[in-house]
Amino acid sequence: MFKYCPHCASQNIGFERNRVFRCPDCGFVYYHNIAAATGLVISTDRGILLIERAKEPARGKFALPGGFVDPGEGAVDGLRRECREEIGWDPGPSVNLYASFPNIYPYKGIVYNTCDLFFTISAQSLCGQDLSVDPKEISGICFIRAEEVSMDDLAFDSTRRAIKAFQEAIKQPRNR
Ligand SMILES: [Zn+2]
Repeated sequence: MFKYCPHCASQNIGFERNRVFRCPDCGFVYYHNIAAATGLVISTDRGILLIERAKEPARGKFALPGGFVDPGEGAVDGLRRECREEIGWDPGPSVNLYASFPNIYPYKGIVYNTCDLFFTISAQSLCGQDLSVDPKEISGICFIRAEEVSMDDLAFDSTRRAIKAFQEAIKQPRNR
């Protein structure tokens, strides 16, 4: 990622444990820490909402509404902001965290390791007309029964695991 030390321009900068850049010449240290990201399973009468990604990575694949948490932002606030931006709908503060999985997000030659937090909310009557989709981010939406989601159509490993966990949870309503 860095060919030269950003502080002293030495070429001896190293990358350790897939995490820390360290320059032996000037002592520069930079931790490429994980980023936090969110996803929301919106449960409706029509099934759960999936969005078709208009951008790389995984353009044309399906994902959940959500995205990276900004600096200085809490996870729920980040989720609500992303939902407003992507689908023009605010789930409000009463979302429930139900799972978390790691993900790898390659973007313009840099690999970001993320910790994805998955929330759920029930919005039984929500339909496409309630949403206003950002065409720069999303090329389509669909409502689909959680048990009918094809794992091959999903963009990210963490989304696959999150939807599997949701499928398990709705099979066992006692635990919810
Ligand atoms: Zn240096």
